Amino acid sequence: MTTQSRDASFTEPAREIPVVERRDVLVCGGGPAGVAAALAAARSGAKTRLIELHGCLGGVWTAGNLSWILDPADKPGVMREIIMELERRSSGSWRPMKKFAADPEVVKLLLEELCLEAGVTIHLHTRVVAAARDAQNRLAVAVTESKSGRQAWAASVLVDTTGDGDLAAQAGCGFDVGHPETGECQPMSLIAVLTGLRYDQVRQYTTHENGKRLLLDEMERVGVSPSYSAPTLICVREGTPGSEDRNGLFIMMANHEYGVSAMDADQITRATLRARAEVHHMVDGLRSLGGVWSDVALVSTAAQIGAREARRIHGRYTVTTEDLLTGARHEDAICRVTFPVDVHSTNPERGKSTESVNRTLKSQPYDIPLRALIARDVDGLVLAGRCISGDFIAHSSYRVTGNAVTMGQAAGTLASVAARTDRLPHQVPFAEVRGVLERMEERLLVPA
Ligand SMILES: Cc1cc2nc3c(=O)[nH]c(=O)nc-3n(C[C@H](O)[C@H](O)[C@H](O)COP(=O)(O)OP(=O)(O)OC[C@H]3O[C@@H](n4cnc5c(N)ncnc54)[C@H](O)[C@@H]3O)c2cc1C
Repeated sequence: MTTQSRDASFTEPAREIPVVERRDVLVCGGGPAGVAAALAAARSGAKTRLIELHGCLGGVWTAGNLSWILDPADKPGVMREIIMELERRSSGSWRPMKKFAADPEVVKLLLEELCLEAGVTIHLHTRVVAAARDAQNRLAVAVTESKSGRQAWAASVLVDTTGDGDLAAQAGCGFDVGHPETGECQPMSLIAVLTGLRYDQVRQYTTHENGKRLLLDEMERVGVSPSYSAPTLICVREGTPGSEDRNGLFIMMANHEYGVSAMDADQITRATLRARAEVHHMVDGLRSLGGVWSDVALVSTAAQIGAREARRIHGRYTVTTEDLLTGARHEDAICRVTFPVDVHSTNPERGKSTESVNRTLKSQPYDIPLRALIARDVDGLVLAGRCISGDFIAHSSYRVTGNAVTMGQAAGTLASVAARTDRLPHQVPFAEVRGVLERMEERLLVPA
């Protein structure tokens, strides 16, 4: 490595990077979408590797501490399977409005077990940092950095489930970020896991009617003014019913970090430091109230601050606001979204009130077509989760994890069919993908 001038730049010498292996399907990013994609690809017969940055699978559910699954009801396949398994392990339960809360630690183990059982090769602690196309504009390899150094991984089809669209951007795909006029993204939040509370005593502050308002009042009683004006407390585990034990488990989402780019490590770092200090301050404030809060304790703040949005990669179809308003239907539908428009204010001033588009834009249940999961600018690349092709408003609705899992399952299935039949994803007729999805569903419905 040579320094060109004192601090201005340096030239990194070109070097040969070993291609570690060739797989049928390489899934990059092991969040809700990535795990579902890897499971579907492996179960439908593809040799599949799943690469994940953190030391656990699950993305926002685990590294992000937020095992609060929105829009999971009536979702088939992997989504239903995960929920049933969490219920069987007494580690998750349905909450009002068809939402599902789970213990993030149990989710970590469950996702690993499901992947290993399906034959997915899991690769943790590894970041995808570059990508290369062949002369036919087909994505050929993903390059990673880890303790093993810089490595290249070849695959017939690659799936971008990094949430932020890292792989697709590195491969040269076009994308949009943020609000169409301002470019601003929704704020980030650092999620906390709490204990030391009795559910029967704090039930009114949780995700019940007026819960957010009442929790805000409690914080304001001790002079704490949270940066998110609708602080949210979710009960994951109620603790021993009727006992004096305060051994329940709760998730708190109560802060907003505005104007932070998910593609800028310095901005993310500063947001994380501010957010962690604020979360501790909020919990200390609640504890100082005594009473039901006297033993509240912070189990952990998330390893990863939650980025609601980053790149929306251009696909062969773009899900639009119009689709939401009209309840769009598609021949190649792979996911029915019922979650409404949910834009967290992009502006600290307006952050004190709910974003008005949430009230004015009334969405109907609408379909996401498989084409929105197929990259437009680079061949051999499938997308799933929050980085699929959609506009700012549509993204605020489809991004939640019940949909991310369902998209992931379709993406992994498409990748597998394409890889095993030596075609590009966009060359595979939808009927073939649907057929495989239906057969997997039948197998999942047969009791073991
Ligand atoms: C603060 C916040 C609150 C939210 N609230 C809810 C909620 O209550 N319920 C709900 O259902 N949804 C909620 N959402 C939305 C939802 O969490 C995301 O949209 C969802 O996680 C999308 O799933 P995903 O798999 O696409 O992304 P992610 O969960 O972000 O997973 C992406 C994975 O890829 C990994 N990764 C990223 N870059 C790389 C790279 N370069 N190389 C390797 N791996 C990489 C990450 O470590 C991560 O594991 C919330 C999001 C945030 C941020």
